[in-house]
Amino acid sequence: MSLSENKILEIFEKTGALFNGHFLLTSGRHSNVYFQCAKVLQYPEYIEDLCSIIADEFCDQKIDTVISPAIGGLVVGQEVARQLNTRFIFAEREDNKLTLRRGFSLNEGEKVLVCEDVVTTGGSVFEVIDIVRNNNAELAGVGFIVDRSNGKVDFGSKQLSTVKLDVNSYLPEDCPLCNKGIELVKPGSRKIKTS
Ligand SMILES: [Zn+2]
Repeated sequence: MSLSENKILEIFEKTGALFNGHFLLTSGRHSNVYFQCAKVLQYPEYIEDLCSIIADEFCDQKIDTVISPAIGGLVVGQEVARQLNTRFIFAEREDNKLTLRRGFSLNEGEKVLVCEDVVTTGGSVFEVIDIVRNNNAELAGVGFIVDRSNGKVDFGSKQLSTVKLDVNSYLPEDCPLCNKGIELVKPGSRKIKTS
């Protein structure tokens, strides 16, 4: 089963992951979209459907290992690995640097797929790609659920997102939503209901 982008956006809205409106971001900027991927990843059935798009794309590449940056990428990488019947490991931050811990390692020459939930600047994914290269493993590509980079991110290998979210953010003084007089909502406040 492959979901269309519209169907995916519908699932995001239904699960309270995605809101359209006028939001105050933690950076102080204002945005037309608020997105919290964990809200959709609460539901294993949706994780299975979303990750099947990634697994289908890479299923003929003989992936040996899926690797994700903690924490956001964990359930995505785990599910893609389950569907591809591969090993799954993750990198986590130690002294602010993503590292393989817990006895995890990558073997020279094995084919590795990097998975993540949301990519904005791609910083964590680039760090994981460095881990793959530093272990002389082969990067097969990058699969992620949501591309919020507005088409800017390029990992220099095969990459697939299940959906692209166009997110505009503005300095408060330049915000067109403020100009229209739309009420500003702080995510996490009771104004956002997820019924
Ligand atoms: Zn505004």
